Amino acid sequence: MHQMSKIILRKGKEESIKRFHPWIFSGALLSLEGTPNDGDIVEVYSFKNEFLGCGHFQTGSITVRMLSFDESAKRNEFWKESIEKALKKRQTLGVTNNLLYTNAYRLVNGEGDNLPGLIIDFYNGTAVIQAHSAGMIKSVENITTALKDVFGDKLLSVYNKSSMTAPERNNVTVSDGYVVEGQQNAVILENGILFNVNWEEGQKTGFFLDQRDNRELVRKFAKGKSVLNLFCYTGGFSLYALSGGASSVDSVDSSQKAINLLNDNVKLNIEKGVIPSNITNNSFCEDAIKYLKDSPNGKYDLMIVDPPAFAKHRGAVGNALRAYQRLNASAIDKVAHGGIIFTFSCSQAIDKISFAQAIFSAAAQTGKKVSIIGRLTQPTDHPVNIYHPEGEYLKGLILYVE
Ligand code: SAH
Repeated sequence: MHQMSKIILRKGKEESIKRFHPWIFSGALLSLEGTPNDGDIVEVYSFKNEFLGCGHFQTGSITVRMLSFDESAKRNEFWKESIEKALKKRQTLGVTNNLLYTNAYRLVNGEGDNLPGLIIDFYNGTAVIQAHSAGMIKSVENITTALKDVFGDKLLSVYNKSSMTAPERNNVTVSDGYVVEGQQNAVILENGILFNVNWEEGQKTGFFLDQRDNRELVRKFAKGKSVLNLFCYTGGFSLYALSGGASSVDSVDSSQKAINLLNDNVKLNIEKGVIPSNITNNSFCEDAIKYLKDSPNGKYDLMIVDPPAFAKHRGAVGNALRAYQRLNASAIDKVAHGGIIFTFSCSQAIDKISFAQAIFSAAAQTGKKVSIIGRLTQPTDHPVNIYHPEGEYLKGLILYVE
């Protein structure tokens, strides 16, 4: 192996690294010894030449993403130890303690698992890797070897789905594909409910694992209710509402692929006896905002409003907040008296206070009496690094509308 490049930090910039901050910004650099390529592992030193750890180098405002605060990222066992640690965390948190009930979970959540730039979702034997940094793109082979070592014959395939998340670099194109061939789609169990997951064609890594706990809450609220699931994707919330004894469930998404998968999922769960076959269940491929506008007042007792991220970057925050306000005002307006709304934002750039303010404005605008009966976030397998609060991207409120 060639000599590792060295990053030397300006005076004082070692402090945050000593407290395990995962990033080094370009302005913190005093000097660079060597000529690292994007994605190489570099050593990090203080201005006094004190060794601080190792991380992935990348040209740009975040110059180093820290992997270890000691020598360990240089060792061959690093990836195996990291995957083991991430799995152990999920075991401790109880996410994997009953695989006959839930067998899909987020195995690695980037900064929250001290592996900046790396997402791995595990779907009943298939690991779907989503790399967001040059270093993680370069590490896919090593990560795959580690997954094999840790999961053994329980690992059925590995799919690299990084084409949409890889940093843009000159002349480098990342394409999606199998690193380990095998299972090409899966039926997963989430809280006892079955879902077809198609990571090749699906959105993000194939399924929105971050709503698992919130879907469970919807199941508890659904009994006897007429339910509307807006932005339903493959029917996560719809299936839970059906399982919880809703009187009817309507689901809306603008993607026909998603609606087809939802219908498959309903069929599968009826066949397996997970949900009753006699509940009215309709799905519509339509714009959710238009559907809501055209639906009669008071038709629905329980609404789920889980749109895609309206703000994809900081510059879009203002418009996004107005869009959240409009959408939620319309939901509050339409829901039945004594109705309940589960409303979400998954925009990283919008914090929970701004989101709540948008909802307050929406409520005020309708002139209805609205109270908050719950505050929601992402589940334990999506941990947040204390230095990366944007990692807490999923925000939700449960509203009671008089
Ligand atoms: N609640 C889902 C995840 C929602 S992801 C779950 O639990 O799995 C957001 C969804 O919104 C995507 O499926 C996308 O196809 C859909 N979508 C985006 N814009 C839309 C629009 N204007 N109207 C309806 N659906 C839309």
